[in-house]
Amino acid sequence: MTTIEHWIGGGPAAGGSDRLAPVWNPATGRERAQVRLASAADVDAAVQAAATAFDHWRGQSLSTRARVMFRFRDLVERHERELAETIAAEHGKVVDDARGEIARGREVVEFACGVTAALKGGFSAEVSTGVDSYDFREPIGVCAGITPFNFPVMVPMWMHPIAIATGNTFVLKPSERDPSASLSIAALYADAGLPDGVFNVVNGDKTAVDALLDHPGVAAVSFVGSTPVARYVHERATASGKRVQALGGAKNHAVVMPDADLDWAASQLTAAAFGSAGQRCMAISVAVAVGDTADALVPLLKAKAEAVVVGPGDDPAAEMGPVVTRASRDRVDALVASGVDQGAEPVADGRGLRVEGHEDGFFTGPTVLDRVTPDMDVYREEVFGPVLAVVRAETLEAAIDLINANPYGNGTAIFTFDGGAVRTFERAVDVGMIGVNVPVPVPTAHYSFGGWKDSLFGSSHIHGHEGVRFYTRAKTVTARWPRHAESRAAPLNFPASS
Ligand code: NAD
Repeated sequence: MTTIEHWIGGGPAAGGSDRLAPVWNPATGRERAQVRLASAADVDAAVQAAATAFDHWRGQSLSTRARVMFRFRDLVERHERELAETIAAEHGKVVDDARGEIARGREVVEFACGVTAALKGGFSAEVSTGVDSYDFREPIGVCAGITPFNFPVMVPMWMHPIAIATGNTFVLKPSERDPSASLSIAALYADAGLPDGVFNVVNGDKTAVDALLDHPGVAAVSFVGSTPVARYVHERATASGKRVQALGGAKNHAVVMPDADLDWAASQLTAAAFGSAGQRCMAISVAVAVGDTADALVPLLKAKAEAVVVGPGDDPAAEMGPVVTRASRDRVDALVASGVDQGAEPVADGRGLRVEGHEDGFFTGPTVLDRVTPDMDVYREEVFGPVLAVVRAETLEAAIDLINANPYGNGTAIFTFDGGAVRTFERAVDVGMIGVNVPVPVPTAHYSFGGWKDSLFGSSHIHGHEGVRFYTRAKTVTARWPRHAESRAAPLNFPASS
């Protein structure tokens, strides 16, 4: 059985812990490897390696750092297929979907290649007579990333390319459920010429996370995961004086207006609800059908859900794979059962799905529940599986009220050709990312990604210019060069511009 180790100071490192956890292949239901779970001492070794590397890396020129990013970007592209196969084997998503997440992550690397422009400061001549002002931003030190299972390449890439390009060093603690891709990324950085210790990986669980949150050598923590852990990470790491951005869970609603092209909207909703088996923080899990839209929409959703081809991630014909663990599959099925018990109508029911040749895999099929109401557990909980709930709303205003009453505020979408409805919607919803006829509105890399309410703790969204600001701090210089001072007097008054 392979043991997946850490990557510290420029190469693989076993560390001192003898705790191991199983890594499953969700399509077969079999253990494919074991991952080493770091101790606090292992985390300390990684932070020390990153701190040592910081002294050198922060002094490298912008163009030196950018060139490493250009080389890394090309290597990620060249190795996309094998990275995608690694993701599929541990996460379960189909290979083409995994390639999609790598491509979106690579866009952040491309943004980081432009670090010379992103770090351009300001200059004001003559802010006072004979006085100029200018500012620039400097890296903050060792930055930590703690990431979820559902995007093992893309979500860490929301963080490390920008942190590293802006002159910081990085310690990544990926999900212990699919850790292998992070080690491949570490090897690609090394091949790109990144100096030892600038990018490190510690595998582990809560022990490793807590060690990072408390470590005095860590300046900033970027977290992505479920809401309870995001809240905890934010509270604990801010208490120890760190910058924190902690992105949490989601319950994303898509409003379907009566004028929408319903067949097209149903196809979009099917892709957004069941792609990656619903295990995306931007998946659509609730369709809000306005007026009498549901009567025509629901039969379309049923037909399209039942047509989704479910199979192992390495089957080119499969559109949707299994969910990540057996426990996750059982939880999804239990939430569907509770919805039916509480009065929802199972229009398409994926429970008990058997995939031939993969009977022990963690499969559950696409499910559509109609007449879901906000008091049902399947509405209140983040299901994180291939389940689409249909809720009926009389008006657009009622749909907006429903969305705003939900504790999450990650993403939302509206399907309509009515510009007035769109404008009302985009101004009134308390949600960070909005799609107009776009069901999964993940911002591109030069914009920033982040939800509102219980979907994000901290004041900074991730990547784009908010990422640059998060990983740097400003210095502002006020300068005078008095060659012919007219007066030697320096009044004791607070200096005012003159
Ligand atoms: P998770 O919260 O269980 O785990 C995330 C990370 O936290 C992992 O590295 C894990 O090892 C660590 N962790 C887990 N429990 C911990 C604890 N008690 N103390 C300290 N650390 C702990 O999340 P997950 O199941 O891996 O991922 C799915 C969740 O992530 C969903 O809720 C999804 O919505 C969310 N997510 C959000 C975004 C976003 O951008 N808002 C993106 C992707 C995923």
